[in-house]
Amino acid sequence: MISMPIGYGKSYFDPKVNWCLYTEPDPNTGNRTHYWPRGKILGGSSAINAMVIMRGLSRDFTDWAQKLGTEWRAEYLLQDFATVSKQFSFATFPEAMHPMCTDFFDACSSHKIPKVADLNDTEVASVGYYPLAIHKGKRVSTATAYLDPIRARKNLTILCATKASKICFDDQQCATAVETCHAKRGTECFTARAEILLCGGSIHSPLLLEASGIGAPKHLQQCGIAPVVHNDHVGAHLQDHLGASHYYASNQATLNDALGTWYGKVRAALEYVLFRRGALSLSLNHAGGYATLHPDSQHPDTQLYFSPMQFSNAPDGTRPKVAAQSRNGFQLGFNIARPTSEGSVHLTPEGTAEIHPNYLDTTYDAEMAVLGSRFMQSLSQHPAFADTITARIEPTKLFETDAEILQDFRGRCGTVYHPCGTVRMAQSPEDGVVDPKFRVFGTKGLRIIDASVFPTIPSANLSAVVMMVAEKASRLIKS
Ligand SMILES: Cc1cc2nc3c(=O)[nH]c(=O)nc-3n(C[C@H](O)[C@H](O)[C@H](O)COP(=O)(O)OP(=O)(O)OC[C@H]3O[C@@H](n4cnc5c(N)ncnc54)[C@H](O)[C@@H]3O)c2cc1C
Repeated sequence: MISMPIGYGKSYFDPKVNWCLYTEPDPNTGNRTHYWPRGKILGGSSAINAMVIMRGLSRDFTDWAQKLGTEWRAEYLLQDFATVSKQFSFATFPEAMHPMCTDFFDACSSHKIPKVADLNDTEVASVGYYPLAIHKGKRVSTATAYLDPIRARKNLTILCATKASKICFDDQQCATAVETCHAKRGTECFTARAEILLCGGSIHSPLLLEASGIGAPKHLQQCGIAPVVHNDHVGAHLQDHLGASHYYASNQATLNDALGTWYGKVRAALEYVLFRRGALSLSLNHAGGYATLHPDSQHPDTQLYFSPMQFSNAPDGTRPKVAAQSRNGFQLGFNIARPTSEGSVHLTPEGTAEIHPNYLDTTYDAEMAVLGSRFMQSLSQHPAFADTITARIEPTKLFETDAEILQDFRGRCGTVYHPCGTVRMAQSPEDGVVDPKFRVFGTKGLRIIDASVFPTIPSANLSAVVMMVAEKASRLIKS
């Protein structure tokens, strides 16, 4: 279920490979608790994600460079994307994608959003087939691309099912060791000869810092942790892509035919086992891209998705999300590309994560939610889709007013699984937690390299950007 691409529907709720986190009730989204899956396996979330590989827009990195200095110039990061592309296989599969993608492209083109061949070579509103981290019918993760080729190295030891519980510091705030716990081996301590690199992701990296005494005194005190370095930014500035899908029943056979019926499942399983082809060898995100919807936007501000399948409409967390229904359907989805709301994540005295996404906290985000939802409505009314749609499943009708639209969005929106920024990078400890060389302010010998260091959320899915940033970090450390 990890290696078979569509298996992410199963790993989505599997605690063996997934941290299965829940947020606190979120006031602006109907006081709902949101389910936040995170990979708990080699490869992290790249082993359970939807495999879309998008490098973001250069304006994302120009903004980073303004905050971080010339070493972070956009063109350098884009070169890092080229380096990632050599090690990490991804591709588009136009011939394998559902024919209804063409309807999606037609509907977008009527909004002056053209189809392009490569969504990683565009800076403007455009759509296309999504580049996917799939090679020969199998998922490519950071574990398969980066770890597998070097597993035999003598200077590499991989300890699975081993949780880092604390980073230990000497009295000069130099990180000297990592304390770990394992169900059978118990607590162990590993001494660092050079440096410690923390790559726990946007939820767990700040938690481990707090568990180690780095953070805001009030949060450390609540957990009875002795402070080592005071930094109020630890766990703050949490950003995430928030989106919503619109579901439709269709008179054309979609992936529901392949994955929602017993005969379809048998056919798909045979096709996959024999040829590594078919519905099981793909992501559900067949096409998508960028739109520019806000009248004041100079750049794309919305990410789009077309998925030729209708999932279960069950509330978050009650049953597997990617449970195909037998009725043919599809979904149009969007998320705000650069939301401005910020939430937080902190350690609780019980050692768990207290996550406040604080979605839709800004007027801009609420406006974008309305614009994105209106755009979904408009696409669905385009002749390309109008003949195909037999019923509106969710929402059940077209809304007229902004208030109705926002109410629907508040009630149905959810994470697109891209938390970041919780130990953000900045030029000084007054603004962030790590410096532009990934070093934790106020400490020696400790760097953080994952999505938690992003100064701001990029305009597209995060995993390619995580790898670009990691390439940069590895070059920097080696030099
Ligand atoms: C369901 C889902 C779908 C997604 N779809 C896409 C997509 O299509 N395209 C895309 O680009 N992005 C997608 N993402 C997001 C993307 O996968 C993540 O943003 C990215 O993998 C984050 O990388 P990271 O290195 O910051 O953290 P992670 O990949 O989460 O890695 C963190 C690692 O640290 C480990 N860890 C944490 N705490 C500890 C500890 N205390 N001790 C030991 N190990 C620890 C974790 O187990 C994990 O292996 C999706 C994510 C999910 C969950």
